[in-house]
Amino acid sequence: MHGFKYLEPAGVEEACSMLSKHKGKAHILAGGQSLVVLLKTRVARPDYIVNIKNLKELDYIRDDGKSVKIGALTTHRTLETSPLIIERFPVLVEAEHKLAHRQIRNWGTVGGDLCHADPAADISPPLIVLKGKAKALSVRGEREIPLDEFFVDYFATALEEDEILVEIEVPYISPYSAAAYRKETIISGDYPIVSVAAAIGLDKKRETIKEACIVLGAVGTTPIIAKEAGQAITGKIANSEAVEQAGDIASSEAQPTSDILGSEEYKRKLAGVLTKEIVNLAIERARKA
Ligand SMILES: Cc1cc2nc3c(=O)[nH]c(=O)nc-3n(C[C@H](O)[C@H](O)[C@H](O)COP(=O)(O)OP(=O)(O)OC[C@H]3O[C@@H](n4cnc5c(N)ncnc54)[C@H](O)[C@@H]3O)c2cc1C
Repeated sequence: MHGFKYLEPAGVEEACSMLSKHKGKAHILAGGQSLVVLLKTRVARPDYIVNIKNLKELDYIRDDGKSVKIGALTTHRTLETSPLIIERFPVLVEAEHKLAHRQIRNWGTVGGDLCHADPAADISPPLIVLKGKAKALSVRGEREIPLDEFFVDYFATALEEDEILVEIEVPYISPYSAAAYRKETIISGDYPIVSVAAAIGLDKKRETIKEACIVLGAVGTTPIIAKEAGQAITGKIANSEAVEQAGDIASSEAQPTSDILGSEEYKRKLAGVLTKEIVNLAIERARKA
């Protein structure tokens, strides 16, 4: 491991000052579930580690009457078991249940997972379809980044080097709307071969698709928003024809590469199959919402 200076700020402002002072040379440490691996393998070689894990001010889940605010240091396990999240955003619980194992979910944080920006991460697709927004803080102040603009490349985000992700805001889901998520894995609790999240909004009669957002995980350098698939079924009757169409188009929007988990062809096909299943499930849920 490359040698580094270990810093423990007393608050988030001090953490921002540390990042600003050592810009480009410091890494944030949250739960350490990804960073420690990167340090041990020398993929990450920071001169400073700024440990924010003990900053309780970033560990919360709050309801403000129109959205739910999730502090960046909320662990996966807290999210998974939060009564508020279970009630408001069951799709996040669905994603969390199969994210790694309980030990990792006890340590790993939602903010850390998003900032690590693995294109196969489980919570990114559902948070994007839910129209989540990231709040970033630095010595220059605060700014908001919609999560559909947060991931810019393989393991790279829109955060500046001196910014800390402090909160994720998820707006209440509209009436007659619902979301669903599923991943296909080789071993339970593993990263997905392919994952799909979808949010579907129906009209008042619950017949026509008013809004559709489909996000594919693990088939590109970032989570991929299957825009054409979503647009193609918006305004259509919510039936098996729309479901089939969404899957076929989403499959063509995937950008998978062949690797140990499967060939490019297999992953593309899987993206289509999972999209059909998940869009269908989201429609069924929206009909009951
Ligand atoms: C064995 C194993 C299996 C796993 N399986 C899965 C899986 O199936 N699905 C899945 O989605 N994930 C999986 N993970 C990944 C896991 O979810 C992440 O490692 C974890 O959530 C990262 O959060 P952390 O708090 O530990 O982040 P850290 O490891 O502390 O940090 C990760 C990165 O984010 C940066 N960072 C952290 N917090 C902030 C912040 N607030 N602001 C700015 N930058 C920040 C760090 O500098 C670092 O670059 C697995 C991990 C392991 C070790």
